[in-house]
Amino acid sequence: MKRIFGLETEYGIAYTAGTTRRLGPEEVARYLFRPVVEWGRSSNVFLPNGARLYLDVGSHPEYASAECDALTDLVAQDAAGNRILADLLARAQRALTADGHDGTAHLVKNNTDSAGNSYGSHENFLIRRSMDFSRLTTTLLPFLVTRQLIVGAGALIPAAPSLSPQDQGAGGTVFGLSARSDVMWEGVSSATTRSRPIINARDEPHADAEQYRRLHVIVGDSSMLQPTTELKVGSAGLVLDLIETGVPMGDLSLRHPIRDIRLLARDLSGSTVLESAAGGTRTALQLQRTYLEHARALVERGDHSLGDDAVAARVLDRWTRMLTALESGDVSSMAGEIDWVAKKALMDRYLERSGADFSDPRLARLDVAYHDITPGAGLLSSLEASGRVQTVVGPAAVDAAVETPPATTRARLRGRFVSAAHAARRDFTVDWVHLRVNDQAGRAVVLKDPFAHESERAEALIAALSADADPDARMRP
Ligand code: ATP
Ligand code: MG
Ligand code: MG
Repeated sequence: MKRIFGLETEYGIAYTAGTTRRLGPEEVARYLFRPVVEWGRSSNVFLPNGARLYLDVGSHPEYASAECDALTDLVAQDAAGNRILADLLARAQRALTADGHDGTAHLVKNNTDSAGNSYGSHENFLIRRSMDFSRLTTTLLPFLVTRQLIVGAGALIPAAPSLSPQDQGAGGTVFGLSARSDVMWEGVSSATTRSRPIINARDEPHADAEQYRRLHVIVGDSSMLQPTTELKVGSAGLVLDLIETGVPMGDLSLRHPIRDIRLLARDLSGSTVLESAAGGTRTALQLQRTYLEHARALVERGDHSLGDDAVAARVLDRWTRMLTALESGDVSSMAGEIDWVAKKALMDRYLERSGADFSDPRLARLDVAYHDITPGAGLLSSLEASGRVQTVVGPAAVDAAVETPPATTRARLRGRFVSAAHAARRDFTVDWVHLRVNDQAGRAVVLKDPFAHESERAEALIAALSADADPDARMRP
């Protein structure tokens, strides 16, 4: 079975003031995107690795990974996004300094800013149009509601959840599994700002609409640890495989999913009893176990979409170890793999030494530092250097993914087209489906099949551009 995966990540901008004027995120974003605009004449570009990099409203730079049909490629492409943004940030910092600003700009791969705004990490999954969408989402929802237990980023959240979109929650601060849970107001909907849904039902397939649909999951946290990214997308991919192959799993629906997602965010043990829609109760841990055991049988039959049996086995193994650790009441063995466990271990150590509590502003700063991708500033780079956390792909694979698109999807053609058009200094337009050289009227190449990594028409276009290549052209922002 094959599937396309894509990850969109919005980053937060922070600025630590020095003695000179404090800069707002819009100003920092302008510095950050200056090389992008110089290179691509826009703050919304496609890169030679097939990804899209853009600045949306609200000054959150976004990196949307290229389409991947193997989970390992996705982890590498996502890590490449961090690398690309960290590089832009280092250059922005130099430009800021040159302009006389003595503060420090930071980029954080998290999902909430200090003002309480929430921004996203979107998971994209290709699904078959023939599948009944409402049946699919009904079976997927209980999985997504409980998934924070295994892959949440961890967050300092109010002890009592918010009960309306205006309400910030109350009752002191606790360490919870995910900050996204409190901003979810619906299971499935196409209105994403008014009533943030877990699954965005907007139907924009970026592919042949008769054959495919793109499932857009917007409940997840951005992940820092590669093993967390792999488990987050891999477990969801396996559950989609179960649904699409029609494996009977019974009715796992929750009676109160939106209430439950809030309760679960505050339950690090997964033992809260949840009411099932069909009657009876289950805990989050039991629900996760049910999905896991079905997924294990599926992988044993070789019927999965993760691209590689060894990767599927690794996802199952990590999922199993995490649930077993939760059942035993001690998750410390997972601190090198799962974000919330890693973050909580750092915070617990700090609390012991300082005698502070979770509402202490220093803890809030530690939370931000965990997600900081600023070169030399974040906690993760030192954790990685100390060997305390695991990686899924090595630094060489990440370096390669900065320059090179995935080889087995249409992103391969897009990435090479973007490179060739830049080298030829030609004006061009691309999106997920189209490649066009602007001065050649009516000659857009249409790539409707995201799995098709070969195309005669695209090759002809790339070859024609390559004949005009200027060796001095700048290949990336
Ligand atoms: P926006 O975020 O601007 O509202 P959008 O949801 O279309 O729009 P993009 O930021 O352009 O999102 O990112 C699209 C994501 O979907 C990318 O990660 C890309 O790799 C992925 N993608 C593209 N085509 C498909 C497809 N057919 N199936 C699954 N994922 C896809
Ligand atoms: Mg996007
Ligand atoms: Mg999106």
